[in-house]
Amino acid sequence: MTADARCPIPSGPLARIATRSAVIRHGAHEVKMGAGAAIVVQSMTNTDTADAIGTAIQVKELARAGSELVRITVDTPKAAEAVPAIREQLDKMGVDVPLIGDFHYNGHTLLQDYPACAEALSKYRINPGNVGQGAKRDTQFAQMIAIACKYDKPVRIGVNWGSLDQALLARIMDENAARAQPWSAQAVMYEALVTSAIENAQRAEELGMARDRIILSCKVSGVQDLIAVYRELAKRADYPLHLGLTEAGMGSKGIVASTAALGILLQEGIGDTIRISLTPEPGGDRTREVIVAQEILQTMGLRKFTPMVIACPGCGRTTSTVFQELADRIQTYLREQMPVWKHHYPGVEGMNVAVMGCIVNGPGESKHANIGISLPGTGESPAAPVFVDGQKTVTLRGERIAEEFQAIVLDYVKTRYATSLAIS
Ligand code: SF4
Repeated sequence: MTADARCPIPSGPLARIATRSAVIRHGAHEVKMGAGAAIVVQSMTNTDTADAIGTAIQVKELARAGSELVRITVDTPKAAEAVPAIREQLDKMGVDVPLIGDFHYNGHTLLQDYPACAEALSKYRINPGNVGQGAKRDTQFAQMIAIACKYDKPVRIGVNWGSLDQALLARIMDENAARAQPWSAQAVMYEALVTSAIENAQRAEELGMARDRIILSCKVSGVQDLIAVYRELAKRADYPLHLGLTEAGMGSKGIVASTAALGILLQEGIGDTIRISLTPEPGGDRTREVIVAQEILQTMGLRKFTPMVIACPGCGRTTSTVFQELADRIQTYLREQMPVWKHHYPGVEGMNVAVMGCIVNGPGESKHANIGISLPGTGESPAAPVFVDGQKTVTLRGERIAEEFQAIVLDYVKTRYATSLAIS
């Protein structure tokens, strides 16, 4: 077979599933979701919302890390009272990230009793399984939708299998029992989740909410469950979809589970906004969930947020920790610069930097990157060639390789991505 006769190998995700657009606003700042817009990264605070200063600080940290929307718990009168103060504090700090209020059980009362809270939030999350029981359920849901319409706020109908509407589940189970060949319990659960989201969205529309003000989610904690539920949801609804495992877990397990589930769905074009619900280690950094979300999107080629460092894993050819330390140092340096660089050096988020451990793949990988350094492996001469845009430009030696390489990276950024507005 000649080279020309071969089929081109397909690459990249499928086209995004067409959804309507929804816009989440704070003042003049708008975050567009759905209808082909970039997939939005969001996160959630874990501070006590009644602590307005502590919450505003964490929101600022999440926004600085790249969270484009931040959700806060609104669970008590004190929390609802604090929301306008949080918003005001953020505005004073120049943080315009839209805030989403997360409501369960008493959202109808809090939004009614604290109009400044209802106004300050940019979106409300409503869990249809926790809106109320029996006859109160419809009334309380209607109250929340009426307030959202009054203040022109979009809502997320956020179904969760840990708090699924029990009346609806009972109805779906009854329907299943009447089937000639009843579905499995798992299929019934999936159907209940999807039905809850869609029926409540339709109900919100009947109550006067515009169709393009509704976002849906159906969160579960199992990877295969999430994939199955969202595939079905995407088939049956054209509202923008919020993706995420409801409880991803701690550390590498949480990251792997989220990546496995979201990677498949995003590859199929499903999902308009993502949140990675990692359980932080005690005292851990909440911004990790933002970084993981960005890294999922960037490594899949769906968005670019920050320059990527390509580093080899190391092996018996490199027994020192020099290249690991340099890779870590450069990765941290690049991420820390991005809040400023993204405004002054457009395109820098697509830069690749290679930090390699020895001559085997070091020069080759470095030539593929914008900038690369091939550190000496065990037994190699103590020299580190640097490659810029595929060409070897200099060889670094001695104790200050890290500082000198960082300076070369900075110089490259200033030269390659500078605009007339760039700062020094
Ligand atoms: S580049 Fe060298 S040190 Fe790094 S993994 Fe490959 S062989 Fe090992």
